[in-house]
Amino acid sequence: MNYYIPWWDDRVDLNYDFIEDEPTDGIKVTAHEIYSSPPYDGILVSKAKIEENKKNMKRITNVGIHEYLGFDGPVFGDCGAYGYIKEDVPPYKTKETAEYYHKLGFDYGVSVDHLIVKQFEEQKHNRYDITIKNAEKFLQVHDSKGFDYVPVGAAQGWDATSYKESVKELLDIGYQYIAIGGLTRSPTSTVLDMLRAIHEVLSEHERVGVHLFGVARLSAMREMQKLGITSFDSASHLRRAWLGSRSNYMLPDGNNYAAIRIPQSDRSPKAKKILGTGNIELEELEAMEEGCMGLMRMYGRNKADLDEVLEAILWYDSIIDAKKSHADEYLKTLKDRPWELCDCAICKRVGVEVIIFRGNNRNRRRGFHNTWVFYKQLQKILDEPDPVKQTTLGEF
Ligand SMILES: [Zn+2]
Repeated sequence: MNYYIPWWDDRVDLNYDFIEDEPTDGIKVTAHEIYSSPPYDGILVSKAKIEENKKNMKRITNVGIHEYLGFDGPVFGDCGAYGYIKEDVPPYKTKETAEYYHKLGFDYGVSVDHLIVKQFEEQKHNRYDITIKNAEKFLQVHDSKGFDYVPVGAAQGWDATSYKESVKELLDIGYQYIAIGGLTRSPTSTVLDMLRAIHEVLSEHERVGVHLFGVARLSAMREMQKLGITSFDSASHLRRAWLGSRSNYMLPDGNNYAAIRIPQSDRSPKAKKILGTGNIELEELEAMEEGCMGLMRMYGRNKADLDEVLEAILWYDSIIDAKKSHADEYLKTLKDRPWELCDCAICKRVGVEVIIFRGNNRNRRRGFHNTWVFYKQLQKILDEPDPVKQTTLGEF
């Protein structure tokens, strides 16, 4: 089962100066460039996302998607249906999209689909028909032009019957790779119910590839695999590094930790807001921030007491974000020192900096670390012997 990371231009400065908090030479790297081997099998690139930046798009058009990403592995292309969820019809034409995947050198290209969501329930039949009709035309264009990327038919639905029917239609059209959309926000039990229904159709066909969009739940991986899923994508482990306040840093043992917030007093939007009230001077805020950074680094070298560090960071935290105390989460992070328990190249190189919630170079590095941990956990789960098969074998 292949794991794809969605591309959101996630890069950090390779030689960032953490003490001065400045890039040194402008060399920017991705997760697959910072680690000796990529912490994913492939990259999913959405048309809607890369077309946002005209300069980048020009470069991709010139050099191709692989060279732009600096990545030799498989690159999966889709349109990014969440980007046009509110439109009556997708903004992309099938013929242009089929040609775009070819021109940019994608390995896989998904037909132009339209998400079926509760918000637009009255449009569900229409969106379903658009998705199937586009898939039909997409395969015709792909085959008539002899493009060499693998065409992937998108399936959308709103219940088990419609998903099953959608997959059946795609297989009848002639697809050998399909992609299931619209389940990203569904609970795991619903995802598995839909996949079970789809599996009834899949089991009648041999060697059909199935991609599941936006679902990466380790607890369901083995079940997903049994139900015929061959690839999936998700950025949730990358993005949790800076979204939410409880589990920003993952460890392979399943423990999660809050990152410790020490925002830059001259750059953070929250700090700017506090300064705007006039209740505190910039110099005072800077002194607190520097004190916290110094103490965290001393703590990293076992030269400061836990209580002393905790008090300082909670004080700074209370000034910046008075609404919520992170005392329990920070105590757990400081006590367990999780950054010392990870073998990844980032944690080995930057140490305690990775656990500090502060700017792109720390936050995104922590996201790369999470992706690395997730990928390790995934390999471990997929490598484990199947308990059902083991029992059966044991009986003979
Ligand atoms: Zn790490």
